[in-house]
Amino acid sequence: MIRFSLRCGHGHEFESWFKDSAAHERMAAAGLVDCPVCGDTRISKALMAPAIRKTRGVKGRPAAEPVEAPAAKPPVPEPEAPRLAAGPMPAQMIALLQRMRSEVEKSCEYLGKDFAKEARRIHEGEAEPRGIYGEATETETEALREDGIEVARLPWVPRADG
Ligand SMILES: [Zn+2]
Repeated sequence: MIRFSLRCGHGHEFESWFKDSAAHERMAAAGLVDCPVCGDTRISKALMAPAIRKTRGVKGRPAAEPVEAPAAKPPVPEPEAPRLAAGPMPAQMIALLQRMRSEVEKSCEYLGKDFAKEARRIHEGEAEPRGIYGEATETETEALREDGIEVARLPWVPRADG
């Protein structure tokens, strides 16, 4: 596991764990990494810290630390397109989504079925601009997008605490 300090296009900094840097690149390319504060998917790496792992050094010689150099050049896109399997989600992705869920619940107002209506009112300046979330049907989501109102759909995973 590797921890990335990430920064969104609006300058929010947050941290995320990934299996390795390739996993991070794949998720970022698929738009699965976004800012927990504003939902921006233009995420760049601030710095990375390899997970602490027990090193078993050979006596008399310092253990060789696996070092991941910070990316000095733009990441090379992998030849294979990211594949999102329909099967069970990897535990780390569930953990990430759980974190996103708790961030959304903390910082946004829940509107349930009124979500689409309120999103439109905010867009039209009739309601106070703020982060909201709730449920919307496929048709409502499409209609919002057609009117230039950005909505993000999150796979809603069960909470970490129950
Ligand atoms: Zn942000």
